[in-house]
Amino acid sequence: MSSDSDQDLGITERKQYNTGDWYAEVVQKAGLANYGPEGMSGFIVTRPRGYALWEYIQNALDSKFKSTGVQNAYFPMLIPESYLEREKDIVEGFDPEVAWVTHGGNEELEERLAVRPTSESIIAPYMAQWVRSHRDLPLRVNQWCSVVRWEATETKPFFRTKEFLWQEGHTAHETHDEAWNETMTRLDQYAELYEDLLAIPVLKGQKPDHDKFPGAHTTTTVEALMPDGKSVQAGTSHHLGTSFAEAFDITFSDEDEETQPAHTTSWGLSWRAIGALIMTHSDDQGLVLPPTVAPEQVAIVPIWQEDTKDEVLDYAESVRDELAEAGVRVELDDRDERNPGFKFNEWELKGVPVRFEIGPHEVKDDEITVVHRPDGEETVEDREDIAETVHDHFDEVYAKLYATAEENLNENVREADSREEILGTLGPHGGYVAVPWCGDEDCEDPIKEPLSAEIVMCPFDDEETVDEDETCAICGESATQTAYFAKNY
Ligand code: AMP
Repeated sequence: MSSDSDQDLGITERKQYNTGDWYAEVVQKAGLANYGPEGMSGFIVTRPRGYALWEYIQNALDSKFKSTGVQNAYFPMLIPESYLEREKDIVEGFDPEVAWVTHGGNEELEERLAVRPTSESIIAPYMAQWVRSHRDLPLRVNQWCSVVRWEATETKPFFRTKEFLWQEGHTAHETHDEAWNETMTRLDQYAELYEDLLAIPVLKGQKPDHDKFPGAHTTTTVEALMPDGKSVQAGTSHHLGTSFAEAFDITFSDEDEETQPAHTTSWGLSWRAIGALIMTHSDDQGLVLPPTVAPEQVAIVPIWQEDTKDEVLDYAESVRDELAEAGVRVELDDRDERNPGFKFNEWELKGVPVRFEIGPHEVKDDEITVVHRPDGEETVEDREDIAETVHDHFDEVYAKLYATAEENLNENVREADSREEILGTLGPHGGYVAVPWCGDEDCEDPIKEPLSAEIVMCPFDDEETVDEDETCAICGESATQTAYFAKNY
């Protein structure tokens, strides 16, 4: 093993001290993504290992949606300017971030076309055509696509890119309450995705009014806390009220033949989830993945001398075949030109959650040495029934990852009731600081300016209420809700 290749394989930055550079190095060295071409900063090329992560997320969400009444559809990626203008908040909200198509070939277009930053403005007019009576409701469509937002803030692979993959769901309902239930169903599904597939606990809440999706009645969010103390807006579900229905004529005749505007929702989750996954679990050796989304769940590394090679390889191959047959994603690393130490490092870098080590001792005793990626824990298992026992290891690895992330979250929700206390807590510790708040946007500024921290969410009323006599931590007026301040991605 040459020292050059060691250098190439190793992560040189430290997660704890230089999180941004460490993250960029893991993304590239684990083969997940490359930066886009020169002149296109903020765009990324997603490599097969990165795209595989997206596919696991996509499959899990898609089946949740389909089992709850959602159908997939597809709309054009270009939106006529006049369509965007029909909902004024959407134009104002997205204007600085829209990319425009002005020419088709050499011909200048009569009307500019927006590259979709989100698709309400092109989906709503069609919903208007499809909905006539209350019998057409609820209407639920989802599209998997990419959108483009010319982000002014610093971009970061997966977390914030100018073009990103996502799904956007759009629904129409008869009543406000039905739309609210829909909004919450999707938010719960996002929370489940993070907690059950990605081993990341999340907090659910709603965005303060000044940070709602343009035109929305309520924006709900799932927030995940990263190990560096910053929050990630991990998915959002919007109750749009009737504003889009009114702008785009999504109306229906109710049971009394009266014409009513529909109540609509939209909800989106992007590949930012991949960013949160990498940032939460990975370490100074590279990527760490839960078995649920690992492209390879098990890497088998055979350890042989010339005289034991055949028996070790035969044994390792039979283990590989048995796992593969049982549906486990397994790789046997039988490369001749690499020694076991090199292979261990490489599979660790790539985030394979479970390693099997098989040498002459294992062959002789009919055993397998099993090593967990996150903490190096080693156990020896019987060869028999390995295709079943391996699932216990997957569960254990998942539980370890979840527990670490949960501990980080639990330890980092603090309370404060003055500006000084908020700054003094958020500055050194990061995490969330829960404060009583009057609801006025101006009270965010004294925290935003010095620290670039903001109100990332307010817990739902039924989960956390403020006492009647509580006062806003910033202005001293009476408090109406609890606000969670955090620095964020
Ligand atoms: P929105 O339509 O603004 O509510 O966005 C839906 C979700 O997409 C957000 O909750 C984010 O998690 C994600 N998202 C928004 N902007 C970006 C971006 N530039 N890159 C990646 N993900 C994004």
